[in-house]
This record gives sequence, structure tokens and C-alpha cells, in this order.
Amino acid sequence: KNEGRSRFLFFTPSMDVDVRSREESYRELRLALADCDQQLRVHYQPIYAMDDGRMVGVEALLRWQHPEQGLVGPADFIRSAEESGLIEVVGEWVLRRAIRDARAWPGLRVAVNVSPIQLRSRKFVETVSQVLAENGVSPERLELEMTETALMAASGDVARSLSELRRLGVACALDDFGTGYSSLSHIRDFAVDRIKIDRSFVNAVATVPGAALVEAIVSLARANGLRLTAEGVEEQEQYAFLKRVGCHEVQGYLLSRPVPAGEVSSLLQGSRRAAKGISMQAAPPL
Ligand code: C2E
Ligand code: MG
Ligand code: MG
Ligand code: MG
Repeated sequence: KNEGRSRFLFFTPSMDVDVRSREESYRELRLALADCDQQLRVHYQPIYAMDDGRMVGVEALLRWQHPEQGLVGPADFIRSAEESGLIEVVGEWVLRRAIRDARAWPGLRVAVNVSPIQLRSRKFVETVSQVLAENGVSPERLELEMTETALMAASGDVARSLSELRRLGVACALDDFGTGYSSLSHIRDFAVDRIKIDRSFVNAVATVPGAALVEAIVSLARANGLRLTAEGVEEQEQYAFLKRVGCHEVQGYLLSRPVPAGEVSSLLQGSRRAAKGISMQAAPPL
């Protein structure tokens, strides 16, 4: 595949190749969307509370079961879904899928990533409340994750949608906190319930400045009444540090990778059993 592309590039101005491959990827994506239930998948990554080690939520993460390329991650296609405008359809499909799956996991919070484009759409709030109602899932169980960049670009419409969502009882989380056009003042300025500390910061807690930065984020967020989840926790030392500085929840390969919906229930039961036994201990539920 790569060889084919580069040979093509040899004969054609690269601008053309960009346009062509972009159009090709839109076309493929459109085909996938005509057949969402076949080609799109949502995997769920467990999120654990640090005080008792219980699994308290899952994050819905989109995958594309590509006919030729196999399972493709969102990093490779969300952007073209946004550029082509197809993200609204994709995003609504993910929302429906996640809320429908959530019925099987009583009491579990389900986090869904939303693109700024979805937030800007006038009917977004209505769709969210409709999908929740149709499935009998309480709004308190849904959390929408959005990036700082998305909120910074927020117009009055987005701000209104956010406050309507929160009035419904749906929580909002600031994803990838610390990346992009970050400012610690966002902790105060944005009407969000939670901050998700980006993996790159979690990665750096072994260094003195890295640890200081995470500690500062945690204390600022806590002082402002926000909940905190650390993303991308891969090592026991990171877990121990985050627990010590007062981060509320963790998510990462140390605890679990994203799994298909069918595997969530058994992880949930396992964690509830384990939590009874190890409650208040420092060990993560491995
Ligand atoms: P995100 O929302 O920050 O999601 C966390 C990403 O980190 C996921 O990647 C997850 O698989 C990965 N991850 C979790 N724990 C670890 C760890 O311990 N180590 C490492 N190295 N990685 C870890 P994924 O699934 O590839 O998703 C990438 C991004 O794509 C997401 O980042 C989110 O921004 C976006 N995305 C995923 N699903 C959707 C969706 O349905 N809609 C929209 N708009 N964006 C989505
Ligand atoms: Mg996320
Ligand atoms: Mg993130
Ligand atoms: Mg990320």
C-alpha cells in the first residue's frame, strides 16, 4: 500500500496526492457509515476510583473495523471525519451505541468523547436527552469528554449547550488536560465537572518538575471542586504517586486496556468483588 502511494507521488504534485487520498478516505468513511453496525466498534476502557479500587466508569473509544486494514484506531480517522463533516453522524452513532451498551452495566458511568463540531450543532442537546430517555439511562451516568481546544473555540452556542447538558444532569470533562492551548485558569473558567490529566503528564511524574506540575494541577482542580482522572497510567509508581497527591480516579493499561462491550460486565463484577476484599488498600485491582 505504501509503495503504491509513493510511486504515485513520484509522478504527481504532492498537493494532488493529498487531495486525492483525502477524498479517498472520505469516501471510505462514508461507506463505513452506510454500514455503521458492521464497520464501527466501540471499545470501553475501565476507570477506577483510587479510594477503594472500584471500577466506577468506562470511556467509550471508537474503532473502525476496516475491510482491508483491520481494526483502525480513532487517531487515524477522527480528523478526516471532522474535516468531511461526517463526525456528526459518527458521533451520534457512538453516543447511541454507548448508551445502549450502558443498560447492561447498572450504576456505571459512561464517558463519551465529543468533537467540537458536535457541540456546535443546535440539536446536540436534544439528541443526547432523547437517547438517554429512549434507553432509560439516567443522565447522571453520562459524561461527555471534550478538549480544552474545543471549549476555547466555543461560541455562545456551545456555552449554552454545555449549561443545558449540565442542567440535564450530564457531566462534562475536560479531556487531555494540559495539552493544547492550556491554561490553568481554564480550571476556573470552564463550567466542567472533571479534569482528565493527559497521559504525557502522567508519563513525566518520575521527574521532579513533572511531579510538581501534576501536583499543582491536582491541588488547583481540587480547590475548585473538580473531580480528577489521570489517563494513561502504565506503571505502579505512577499509580502510587497519583494516589498520594489526591487524584480521584485512574485509567490506563496498568489497570485495563479498552475492551469490547461484552467484556465489561465481568471486569465490573471482578472489581466489585475485589473492592469488598481490598477496600482502602493502596493496591490497584489488577
Ligand atoms: P482520549 O479521549 O484521550 O482517550 C484515551 C486514549 O488513550 C485512547 O486511545 C486509549 O486507548 C489510550 N490509552 C488509555 N490508556 C493508555 C495507556 O496506559 N497507555 C497508552 N499509551 N495509551 C492509553 P484511542 O482509543 O486510540 O483514542 C484516541 C483519541 O481519539 C481519544 O483520546 C479521543 O480524543 C479520540 N476518540 C476516541 N473515540 C472517539 C469518539 O467516539 N469521538 C471522538 N470525537 N473522538 C474519539
Ligand atoms: Mg477521552
Ligand atoms: Mg484524553
Ligand atoms: Mg488523548
